[in-house]
This record gives sequence, C-alpha cells and structure tokens, in this order.
Amino acid sequence: MEKEFDLIIIGGGQSSLACGYFLRRSDLDYLILDDQETCGGSWPQTWESLTLFSPSKFSSLPGFMMPSSEGNYPSRDEAIAYLCAYEERYDFPIKRNARVTKVALQNGIFHIHTADGKQLKAKAVISATGTWQKPFIPEVPGRESFQGIQIHSAEYQNAEIFKGKKVLIVGEGNTGAQLLAEVSKVAQTVWATHKQPEFLPDDVDGRVLFDLATAKYEAEKQGKPFDTSLYHLGNIVMTPAVKEARERDVFKSKGRVSAIKDDSVVWENGDREEIDIILWCTGFGFATDHLSGLVPRDSRGRISTEDTRCKDVPGLWLVGYGGWTGFASATLIGVGRSARQTVKEVVEYIKELK
Ligand code: FAD
Repeated sequence: MEKEFDLIIIGGGQSSLACGYFLRRSDLDYLILDDQETCGGSWPQTWESLTLFSPSKFSSLPGFMMPSSEGNYPSRDEAIAYLCAYEERYDFPIKRNARVTKVALQNGIFHIHTADGKQLKAKAVISATGTWQKPFIPEVPGRESFQGIQIHSAEYQNAEIFKGKKVLIVGEGNTGAQLLAEVSKVAQTVWATHKQPEFLPDDVDGRVLFDLATAKYEAEKQGKPFDTSLYHLGNIVMTPAVKEARERDVFKSKGRVSAIKDDSVVWENGDREEIDIILWCTGFGFATDHLSGLVPRDSRGRISTEDTRCKDVPGLWLVGYGGWTGFASATLIGVGRSARQTVKEVVEYIKELK
C-alpha cells in the first residue's frame, strides 16, 4: 500500500528547520521537500557581500545558537553555514531537488505533486516556501518600453555589471540602501524612493527593530497605545557599508518615478533622466503557487490564515511568510515562536484524526 505521511513540509529553509526542531518532541512521521540542491533555503541566492542586520546572538533558530561571527554582523556565508550545521545537527528528514508543483485534497488526504511526476500523500501540510521566488516590481507606466537592463535585487550578486553605467536604484528599505552603497562605488547612481528614507541611529542595529516591534505587538495585544515616534520600524540599519556610503554622500533620494520611457525615467516633477540600468529593490510576494488550485490567494500570494493555520483548508498551515502568518516570522530569531505554535496545532490535529 502507498505510504501516507502524517505531515509533509514544503520548503527546506529556516522556517521549515524551526518546525523540524519542535517536531523532534512528537512521534509524527513527516518529510521535508525542498527544491534546492543544498542546504540554506534562499540564503545561497542572496548577494555575495550581504551581512545580517543583527549580531549572531540575535539571529538564531531555537535550540542552537549561531556561532559568533568574524565581523560584528554575520556574513551571508556564515548564515548559510549555520543553517547547514543546524540541519545536520538535528538530522531532519529532507528530500532535496523536490519541487512541489501542486497540492490537492482527496477524501481529506493531501496529494503532493512534485515536478518529477511523483505524488506523495499526507494527512497535514505545512507550507514554508518563503518569498525569494516571487520578486515584486511595482507597476510603473512605460516600464515594458525601457530599452536598458532591469534587474530585481533577487538576481543581484555583485556590482560587476554596473561598472561605469548610470544606475537607478528603486526602494527605500535596507536592501535599497545596501545595494546603493555597493553599486555607487563603481557606477553613477540615482535613488528613487516612495517616501523619504529614514536611517536608524549609528549605534542601533536590527535587534532593536525586533525589540521595538515586539513591544509594539505586546502593547497592541493589550489595547495600549505605543509611541513609535522614537524610531520607525522600517528604518535602515547603519551597517559599516551603509555608514561608509553616507560619508560619500550617496543617500540622496530624488523621490518617486512617475513613468519610464525608452532610455529614461520621468520624475514626479516632470524631469526626464537617462538611465542605463534599473535595479528594483522593491521586495517580494509570497511563493505559494503550489497552493493555487487548493485555496484562494490574493495578488501577492497571501492566503487567509488565523496565525499560521489556513482558515479555508483544515490540515494546512503556512509558516515564515512574515506579518500575515506570524509576527516577525520571516526572521531567524522570530520564526521559532510561529513554528512552536504550529507544531503544537499539527500534533493535536493528527491526534484527533487517529
Ligand atoms: P526561504 O529561505 O526562502 O526557504 C524556502 C525554501 O523553500 C527554499 O529552499 C526554496 O527554494 C524552497 N521552495 C520554494 N518553493 C518550493 C516548492 N514549490 N517546492 C519545494 N521547495 C520550494 N532575516 C534575519 O533574521 N536577519 C537578517 O539580517 C535578514 N536579512 C535579510 C536580507 C535580505 C536581502 C532578505 C531578502 C531577507 C533577509 N532576512 C533576514 C529575512 C529572512 O531571514 C529570509 O527571508 C529567509 O530566507 C526566510 O526563510 P524561509 O525558510 O521562510 O524561506
């Protein structure tokens, strides 16, 4: 008879590993399916010089701390090494090169279809596929007519292709600021932002963003007001590279782009400026295409959930996608809370079925 798992987790990044950590205390028969060849989730696809915005102590999954980093902030490679060591330490059951294309429900059992034509069965599913595979670029009139190169930060590796070019960088988040800092060393850059960029004080790092966000969350839960006037939660962290770029005076936003034409962009005041390359640092949607036939999704791939539990389909949970599936759940330090609660709910759900 064909095997039926208690649970299948789709995606093998940090969110999935955090769930695996809490599953060790259960007797559920489960499997993780990940479409990558190696460990680390999406981190190996990020750019070469990326550093985390919090020290390793505040960038850890449950149970096993990220080792101290060489610099103040762990590098991308240190984050990958940590995730690989975490996976090895707990020996999670992971099948790699397994891309899930579709999840269907038949008589209360999930049928998980993979790109190699196979099907697996499970009583419950956790989707933990992240955002990386869904780069988001906003609608700007004329964008399709642009004759230069357009790339999204998801494709950025290093500044090589920008050398000597005129580059428009779009986006006022940490990614926009960090890539502007790097690209401006080798190219002429212009910065487009939706609103005025806001920088954190020099001695404050991503940990404070997390603490503030937690305090805001707790206050809102208790119906108390919260004074955010001290810091704004979306502020840019002053990493060493961002500080160095500030010395070169590169952080001058020209505001919003209202249209794109052939070889130029048009600013809100009507000025036109020639550009060779546009680098979109405009965030991501959610990689939930595999659930499209199963449950309604909005235009960015969001699904209606109560915390991580899907409201429309019993037996389905979504972990690690940020705000809508759990407060700060798209961070290394924040996903543990979501994962613990999810595993508790899954274990209860399976127990009730038996
Ligand atoms: P992912 O890491 O994306 O893992 C999902 C896995 O699922 C991937 O292996 C993917 O290939 C796989 N997958 C996707 N679809 C399928 C499918 N259909 N079938 C099978 N497998 C699939 N967080 C911090 O805590 N500190 C930081 O400093 C920090 N910096 C960041 C900087 C950048 C530029 C970005 C983009 C994010 C940063 N984050 C940071 C946020 C966060 O840590 C990452 O977004 C993290 O990768 C999310 O983990 P995840 O496991 O949810 O998703």
